[in-house]
Amino acid sequence: MIVICGSESPLKMSDMLRIVFTLGLLSGFCFAVCGGVTTSNVSTRHCPITLKPPAQKIGVKPVLSKEETALLMLVGFGGFSIILALVHNSIRKYVFHDEHNLDTTFDAGGNVSMSLTAVTVASQLFWPGDILHSATLSTKNGIAGPFWYAVGIMFNIFVFPILSVQFKTKAPGAKTYLQIIRARFGKRTHTVFCFFAILTNLVITIGVLLAGKATIQSLTKDASDEFVVLIMAALFGSYSLIGGLGTTFYVSYFNACLVFILFIVFVVKILHNTDAEFGSTKKMFESITCLTGPDDNANNSFLTFRSWGAFMFGIIEIFVSSAVTYCDQASWQSRIAAKPVQGVWGFILAGFIWFSIPNVMATTTGMAYLALSSENGSHFLDSFQIDEGLVTPLIAEKILGSAGGILILTMGAMALMSTGSGEVMGLSSVIVYDIFQTYIRPFRNNLLPHHCVLCGKTRKGLEQTSTANNSHTQRSELCACVDATNCRICAEDVAKAKETSQYYLKQPYSCVTHGRYRQYMDYLFDFKNWCIVWVTVSMVPLGLIVFHSGINLNWIFYSGATVTIPCFPPVVLSIIWVKATGTGLIAGNISGLIGGITATLIAANLYPGGLGHFLENTAQDYTILAGNVTGFVISLTVCIIGSLLTHKIQGPADVEFEWMKMYDIDNPLQPWELLYREDLKGMEYEERPSFAQMNTAFKKAKLTAYIAGSASIFIFAILIPGIMAAHPDMNLQRFEMWLDFTQSWAVIMAIIVVFLPPTEEIIRIVKQCRKNRTPGLEKNGVARDGKTCVTLVKSASAPEAHEMVVKDGGDYVSSNTDVLPVAV
Ligand SMILES: [Zn+2]
Ligand SMILES: [Zn+2]
Repeated sequence: MIVICGSESPLKMSDMLRIVFTLGLLSGFCFAVCGGVTTSNVSTRHCPITLKPPAQKIGVKPVLSKEETALLMLVGFGGFSIILALVHNSIRKYVFHDEHNLDTTFDAGGNVSMSLTAVTVASQLFWPGDILHSATLSTKNGIAGPFWYAVGIMFNIFVFPILSVQFKTKAPGAKTYLQIIRARFGKRTHTVFCFFAILTNLVITIGVLLAGKATIQSLTKDASDEFVVLIMAALFGSYSLIGGLGTTFYVSYFNACLVFILFIVFVVKILHNTDAEFGSTKKMFESITCLTGPDDNANNSFLTFRSWGAFMFGIIEIFVSSAVTYCDQASWQSRIAAKPVQGVWGFILAGFIWFSIPNVMATTTGMAYLALSSENGSHFLDSFQIDEGLVTPLIAEKILGSAGGILILTMGAMALMSTGSGEVMGLSSVIVYDIFQTYIRPFRNNLLPHHCVLCGKTRKGLEQTSTANNSHTQRSELCACVDATNCRICAEDVAKAKETSQYYLKQPYSCVTHGRYRQYMDYLFDFKNWCIVWVTVSMVPLGLIVFHSGINLNWIFYSGATVTIPCFPPVVLSIIWVKATGTGLIAGNISGLIGGITATLIAANLYPGGLGHFLENTAQDYTILAGNVTGFVISLTVCIIGSLLTHKIQGPADVEFEWMKMYDIDNPLQPWELLYREDLKGMEYEERPSFAQMNTAFKKAKLTAYIAGSASIFIFAILIPGIMAAHPDMNLQRFEMWLDFTQSWAVIMAIIVVFLPPTEEIIRIVKQCRKNRTPGLEKNGVARDGKTCVTLVKSASAPEAHEMVVKDGGDYVSSNTDVLPVAV
């Protein structure tokens, strides 16, 4: 009989693994259901210590001067981004010969590799909050804190590919999720959701500003609010403008690399440094087992995965991360930029990469903090400072001195940069596409979905779908516009525009069909740049107002989630459910919002102090849970019932008509069909593939998303938690095993992050160079003749040929689409 419990049990590793593995699942389920019922296992403790609040205010000592911070942030990161931009642009120019057409790389038109997509997505997922906040959780809930937090977010990461595949195949030409809502439900619904999109954006922007403030001020001497907000605005603005010019993927790669290298240095310095105060994992373990943990942890231990508080937090996190993911244009923007197949694998890998960050980083710093406090007999930080996220900076400083401060500041800045500029770009794209282009200065007023934007006439093939009284549409009333990608005059126009370097020599476009629209796009392009500048500038007053209001990071995230979660079911339903109606979605969203806020207020009132302690009680665990769950459930229910009552879907024809509304979203100058040509090899169609053809082409991608997504959810949300929660308390062996597991995971991911993207990129460049040296390929296999149907024949040289077609077509758009990843 093997004794499983007790820290002194002489278990062999292999035996233990086997037992843990078999018991894992069962107990995991049991744990999830009964919420951490403890068993009889009690590890022997000789020294129960309950941590007292700090005797005097210790906190974090700022190690950098204002000048040093400014230098590091602006010259360091700003300068580095510019160098990367130059490298990227010269690669485009000398290898791919498309420096004027960055949109193909930008919206990942089949050009961006899987690993680069993964690294980019991961670095955008990696929030400054993750470093700070997950350490707070491990200090409060023990080792389970960051773990369940990560599980909650992982759940969301793996569900996203399933939805993004749907988005990409049903509305391949859409740039923002709001465009889908407008195409399907019209102006009224669109306006409501524009409001919520901007609100979500605002919540996240405020969160980013607060996280930045906490990081910068804790490490910089006398950093005033104004200083912090100016540094951040400068950083985001420059990154959006420079990074936006096609270098996003490269900069994200270096971001991720730096973060991983830094945090491995950090982990090694803390856990494998014999000079440190706790020296070894054994000593650390002993210090922490002495502490009395929170009451809702099994055996009051910090070293258990059965922590009700942490588990509940994971549940909250599922809602919160969904609220800020699905309603935030910035997250759609970066994720729908990838093609379906690469996208799916990219997301899954991004999830794996991200997993190591909260787990390893927060476990290391949180455990180090607890061990140090245990030795000290009392906390180093008061509960307010812990909530502010100062655990990581404190540990960094204690162990590494001022180098630690620079390390944390660098990591924080890297994370801030991706998220902050993502929000700037997201908000700008909502303003440009959904407000300016739609309501303020549209190319053409009162345009119906079946009308051609260029000439205003009914498009070919759609005459029967227009209203009944129009059913005898004359041939002359039908659109006869030539495809822009085959327009000879446009080609000349673009070539001329490329040669012109002086504005004086710039001529108006001569193409009668597309010239005006092209001009309009140029105008939008300029507007877009200004929009980014203005959005950045307006961050300064916003930041100052927020800093003076006393709102903290926790509060804005969790009450922000209560406000945005009702938007989550409508957004998802509008993409996946044919019967969804505008009335149903608006009703759901608004009733969910009212319900969520009411539930929050009621729950907050139950805490001591009631609504008198507004900021404190509205961010309590159960308040957040009540607000989020109520908002979500009411919104979902009302959306479904409301839509069922108001929809007009009667047969397959209606279904097709409804989906076609999304499918029709397109840019006449660069139809989405070009991007997908490679994936549609062997299919015959006129102008663009049918809905069914698209479905067939991306069946595999969908299947992959379903299988890989659910397998990953199973592993990360059920299997690993099950194994880890199988035992109430950790003994030294299990503690070491967990640390070894997370650390090896992090090392493997670091290797992938550092080496895979450049390898794939170099292979791609070498391939392209070879292709450049073999002339004549351009001419072969160009199957499109512009008049009849397109036949893409699968042959040995075809892939290259199609790529050429796509590129040639892309070139015609001039540089309109440079700034936002998924531009017009
Ligand atoms: Zn037309
Ligand atoms: Zn033309």
